[in-house]
Amino acid sequence: MGRMAALSTQQTVIIGLLIVCYLAVCLRTALRMARTGRSLWLWLLITVFLTSIPATVVLMREQFRAVGRGRRGPADEPRHERPFRCRHCRKLVRPADVDHSSGVAACPHCGLALDEAETG
Ligand SMILES: [Zn+2]
Repeated sequence: MGRMAALSTQQTVIIGLLIVCYLAVCLRTALRMARTGRSLWLWLLITVFLTSIPATVVLMREQFRAVGRGRRGPADEPRHERPFRCRHCRKLVRPADVDHSSGVAACPHCGLALDEAETG
C-alpha cells in the first residue's frame, strides 16, 4: 500500500499536463477579459481560483446586452407598435425606441424608467 502515496513518473506527467492546460485556459479567459478593458492579473487570479465561470458569466451578460442594443432594426420591431406618452416628460415614445440598455425599459427622451404597463 505504501506505493499508493508516491506518484509514478507517468502520473506526474499527466497531472503536470492537466495543470498546464488549466493554466492555459485561465490565461486565455483572462486575456479575453483584458480585451474588454479589465485587469488581466485580477481576472487571471479569479479564473485560477474560482474557475472561468465568473468570467464566462460576465462576458455572456455583455454579449447579451450587445445583441439587445444591436437589434433595433425594422426587421426586429416589437409586436406593440402603438406610441405612448412617457409618464415623466409626457413626450411621445414609440415602443421600438424604448431604451433597454440599462436592463430596464427607459424613456429615450428623459431616460427615466417606464412602467411595464406603458411598454407592453
Ligand atoms: Zn420621458
